[in-house]
Amino acid sequence: MAQARSRPIKKAATSAQPTKPFCRNLRRPVRQLSPVVMANPLRAAAILSTQSKWVNGTVLHYCFFTSGHFSVPKTQADAVRGAFAKWKAVGIGLQFQEVGQLSEAEVRIGYSTSDGSSASNVGREVLSAPLNQPTTVYGWDPTTPYGSGTALHELGHVIGMEHEHQNPFAGIKWHEQAVYAAIAKPPNNWDHDTTYHNILEKLTPQQVQGSQWDPDSIMEYEFEPGLIAEPKQYDINGLTPPGTLSAADKQWALKWYPLLQPTLPTLQPFQPAVADLAAGQQMDFEIKPTSSRKYTIETKGASDALLVLFEDINGVPRYLSGDDDSGEERSATITHKLFAGRSYIVRLRLLHPGETGKTSLMYS
Ligand SMILES: [Zn+2]
Repeated sequence: MAQARSRPIKKAATSAQPTKPFCRNLRRPVRQLSPVVMANPLRAAAILSTQSKWVNGTVLHYCFFTSGHFSVPKTQADAVRGAFAKWKAVGIGLQFQEVGQLSEAEVRIGYSTSDGSSASNVGREVLSAPLNQPTTVYGWDPTTPYGSGTALHELGHVIGMEHEHQNPFAGIKWHEQAVYAAIAKPPNNWDHDTTYHNILEKLTPQQVQGSQWDPDSIMEYEFEPGLIAEPKQYDINGLTPPGTLSAADKQWALKWYPLLQPTLPTLQPFQPAVADLAAGQQMDFEIKPTSSRKYTIETKGASDALLVLFEDINGVPRYLSGDDDSGEERSATITHKLFAGRSYIVRLRLLHPGETGKTSLMYS
């Protein structure tokens, strides 16, 4: 397991620290849910906090641009490979696999120091990015001590993490004009809206999972003194996260992506599997069809769920199909031809249980 670097000793700033370049994500409007869903605040919160997360066990294929504006030099690509390894070493059930073709990768990684901007799509939102575009861009060198933190930070977005300083439970009060002024200068040169949407704007409570702020999170920025009004210690000393995965970061990753069981129960045709899952939990089954035909795999009841079907090819799950019925008054359903003699995996991530609290899955 990768060892976290020892944490630098914090001390009061004796001179102004230069502002670091910050990750700059595009504005992401909060999904509008139907009035039926909004009438149930628990359901709405569960959907909004889970919708960007991958189904655990997903193999995320990643690929580096090797030509053009976003080409990643080998040294920098190696640093990002190392960041993937550090996340995997936490013990999560997600898998990361490098591929040689951008068209085969959900996660397409670019590098441009001329743009000078690091950013990433968040979780499953990478799937909506145009296939010829990077989903994750590094705008500064990920081989430096600060850049190695950025390498981990952007991959935190890839697995579905949000910015920690926008956690509504942080209790941060800003010297807003000082923040705008500091970040309008190099190296960020951000306009008013970019600063607002990446720093000052709070996420809705429904978009975050924890109730506590983690100033050591890899998803927290480094702030110079004089930008954070409260808590007061950060006004005086600034905020310098260690740039490594914090204990809470690892807990977050293991909560959403716990290590998977090596063998799965087999789902039998016409026999529903019923479980009491809490919001965010997942159930997983193996399917071994005895005849080759079109099958339907479906949830029953009023749950909101993400359903994903993989074929198990020599131990590697390959995505076949998925359906997300969250926020809709229907059941998640996959209809797909399955072949006798082959092995499939179906994974159900529950966003919100229905009134019965039961989640039911069947194939026929
Ligand atoms: Zn970020």
